[in-house]
Amino acid sequence: MSEADEHKIAMQKLQAEQKAKVKSTQSIDRGLVLVHTGNGKGKSSSAFGVIARALGWGHQVAVVQFIKGNWKTGERNFFKRFPEELHWHTMGDGFTWNTQNKEQDILAATKAFETATQLMHSGDYDLVVLDEINIALRYDYIDVNTVVDSIAARSPRTSVIATGRDAKQELMDMADLVSEMKEIKHPFKAGIKAKQGIDF
Ligand code: ATP
Ligand code: MG
Repeated sequence: MSEADEHKIAMQKLQAEQKAKVKSTQSIDRGLVLVHTGNGKGKSSSAFGVIARALGWGHQVAVVQFIKGNWKTGERNFFKRFPEELHWHTMGDGFTWNTQNKEQDILAATKAFETATQLMHSGDYDLVVLDEINIALRYDYIDVNTVVDSIAARSPRTSVIATGRDAKQELMDMADLVSEMKEIKHPFKAGIKAKQGIDF
């Protein structure tokens, strides 16, 4: 048999396997829970990619940012173009590496999570992104069981994406999808500053 024929047969087999797999899956009429974690780049930007997808279908989306950066970001600038469909919440002063005030951070994270809970339970959203919530959980600014219970009690319509390094096991256990971004290389390690349009 020629190499081309062998390739064709192998591809036909793959196609049949793929078709069988797809046939055995079923659509689900509830929102999914996605966790983007790990030490490599791509956790938040992947969530912003999913937001673009959702908006492309006319879905309603909310974002709660648990860490307030000092920077203006391209995503914020861009998503301002969708004021009807996308509601963006940056919490109070959020918490930053700069405050170093635990009481204040706990208050900001707690308020952010109260807002997140309202959004997830309202039934008004197809997608709610909790950006960097894993950082608030990691420092125990908010309680993981409270967060898991609130996500579990979300509106059936609503999918949730939680981002940030060091996701808690309890959150990963209840999620439908967990992706770990793994750093192979990052320009920061070569002394290159965060770049406009790539990092923010
Ligand atoms: P992005 O928003 O670019 O998808 P991220 O959400 O995965 O990044 P965070 O931990 O939220 O990563 O960090 C935000 C900022 O830190 C971004 O500017 C990002 O480029 C940078 N960053 C992400 N991963 C690394 C890394 N491994 N080393 C250094 N800087 C990083
Ligand atoms: Mg991030």
